[in-house]
Amino acid sequence: PERVTVIGGGLAGSEAAWQLAKRGITVDFYEMRPQKMTPAHKTDRLAELVCTNSMRSNQLSNAVGLLKEEMRQLDSLIMKAADHSQVPAGGALAVDRTQFSDYVTSKLLALPNINFHTEEITQIPTDRIAIIATGPLTSDKLAEEIQKFSGNESLHFFDAAAPIIAADSIDMDIVYKKSRYDKGEAAYLNCPMTKQEYENFAQELISAETAEVHSFENSEVFEGCMPIEVMAKRGMKTMLFGPLKPVGLENPATGKTPYAVVQLRQDNAVASMYNIVGFQTHLKYGEQKRVFAMIPGLAHARFIRYGKMHRNTYMASPAVLSASYEAKKQPGLFFAGQVTGVEGYVESAGSGLVSGINAARRASGQEPVAFPKLTALGSMANYVTTADIKHFQPMNASFALIPGLEGPKVRNKKERHLKISQRGLECLKEFQQEVLQ
Ligand code: FAD
Repeated sequence: PERVTVIGGGLAGSEAAWQLAKRGITVDFYEMRPQKMTPAHKTDRLAELVCTNSMRSNQLSNAVGLLKEEMRQLDSLIMKAADHSQVPAGGALAVDRTQFSDYVTSKLLALPNINFHTEEITQIPTDRIAIIATGPLTSDKLAEEIQKFSGNESLHFFDAAAPIIAADSIDMDIVYKKSRYDKGEAAYLNCPMTKQEYENFAQELISAETAEVHSFENSEVFEGCMPIEVMAKRGMKTMLFGPLKPVGLENPATGKTPYAVVQLRQDNAVASMYNIVGFQTHLKYGEQKRVFAMIPGLAHARFIRYGKMHRNTYMASPAVLSASYEAKKQPGLFFAGQVTGVEGYVESAGSGLVSGINAARRASGQEPVAFPKLTALGSMANYVTTADIKHFQPMNASFALIPGLEGPKVRNKKERHLKISQRGLECLKEFQQEVLQ
């Protein structure tokens, strides 16, 4: 087989290098730290966790729990490291971050077919099989190259995201469907507010606690996409001329226009998720849950993704990649991790796993393959390569991305999710035996 170059020794690159090496492929593995650091990394270790030490749920009733189990089934190095360095955290899988990255680093560097280089790569390789896994903080020169590669419009420097909530947690008796001035299809749900509700909400928003600001998140970055709490601080009525503007949104039931309206925009094709329009925010997650629950209709909102702000470089994968994470216009070039638009530690590692297996196939003269959509791994690859490009935003693993169960509806949510997980794991087993062998 041919050699494979892996660029970036984070969550995705480390997993990809492992999957390649254990298939007997020689790997040229490049990581720029500590020679050149990112604004968030602090060490020279592979697979450094830049923020929380939690990898979220370890339960099969949760999509990221399913993802973890699928990765264990495929002998994931990141999952071995996480299980090895686990610390007590209830139903979640949290790790000792030092033990975790030490484990990954020592396992990879001990492999004879991994050639490790501390070096910043500034060009996209064109003459060999390669995986680019340089993450949300890809160094500037390479980020420019990726931008050129994926077309000028298509690399996003994404610094803000509004929260996404589960449709089945919205109180449909309170919200109503309507688009402003009835233009286009009514894809919006509207949460009406009285003057009193608006003022109470604005007050809480102004005084809510915000997350720690990283050095690279300067005020310039914020100007283009202002967090809702910053807007609220500019004046009691400012939001009424911004995202909470009620004009053209009269309630069809009463014919009256509310004092203020928070709009929810459908976020996926099957309408299982909605984002809160204009609510990019820097509030702490707990504060988002508390303050946004004051919005009429959202008292019991379940957050699929919290709003956040940080630099996040990702490409327009729906235009650039196929579901094997291979670039459509350059066979042999793969991408993996957050740069493809998956979101989260485990998700990044999961895409590295799929990308690594596919690069190994390429190197051995086999065609890369898409993983089944019934698996969490396959559903994420499907999402990042088929999402609506205009609204494409990084996404965590979610049951909303996996096709629902056939047959009679299972009412109990936990039971339903467990069934979907069971089905995913069986499907993956078959796929392993029939396709990956
Ligand atoms: P990374 O893990 O960042 O790995 C990329 C690697 O490539 C780095 O080691 C980097 O040094 C290297 N590199 C970059 N450019 C080059 C180059 N040109 N040449 C060679 N090497 C290069 N996710 C969560 O699940 N929980 C969180 O709490 C969380 N917090 C986050 C906080 C911040 C500030 C950021 C930016 C992201 C956060 N994420 C979080 C999102 C995401 O899960 C992580 O960023 C995750 O590490 C992404 O994995 P990755 O492999 O794609 O990138």
